[in-house]
Amino acid sequence: MALQRKLSPKLTLYRDRHFPMCALSKNRLGHRAVVGAGGNVGDVRRRFHHLLTYLRRAKGVDVLATGPILKNPPFGYLEQDDFHNTVLAISTPMQPRVFLRFLLHLEKKFGRRRSFANAPRTLDLDILFFDNRVINSADLVVPHPHWHERESVVIPLQGIDRCLNIQGR
Ligand code: ADP
Ligand code: MG
Repeated sequence: MALQRKLSPKLTLYRDRHFPMCALSKNRLGHRAVVGAGGNVGDVRRRFHHLLTYLRRAKGVDVLATGPILKNPPFGYLEQDDFHNTVLAISTPMQPRVFLRFLLHLEKKFGRRRSFANAPRTLDLDILFFDNRVINSADLVVPHPHWHERESVVIPLQGIDRCLNIQGR
């Protein structure tokens, strides 16, 4: 069961049992990453639930919080279905590049095939923040560029802010 709220003609926010969620656990694995998740192929909300189940069982990651799920129009390449986006705060002992590889592996596992920029995708996982680190390399830019201009990031993020404050940064 999901509660849905239309924020505007183009934006719908979904809340259910696991999105948003605030865990009791602290940032005990060392680092804290905030990950943006998105997709627009197939049943993406269902995929987010499968992803969460997978992450809860996986070693080396502890899910601290999830945001609500936002349905929003595509940008860049417009001839494609709306996206669903959310955010997950994850505690991990992995270093940023190792964590990125872990996420790219998960994208593959959840059926992502790469074609062209801004193309339809089953699951896109981006590192939005990693502790307070600033990283500018060819394969990894953190904080994620343009995050603050995107409703797909900013709105789900509002749903975890308070939770992360309670857990302590
Ligand atoms: P986008 O997310 O911009 O649509 P992709 O998901 O296809 O693009 O990602 C392509 C590459 O972006 C990844 O292989 C990765 O090396 C790079 N990248 C740079 N910064 C980040 C980041 N913060 N999170 C995830 N990927 C990143
Ligand atoms: Mg990506």
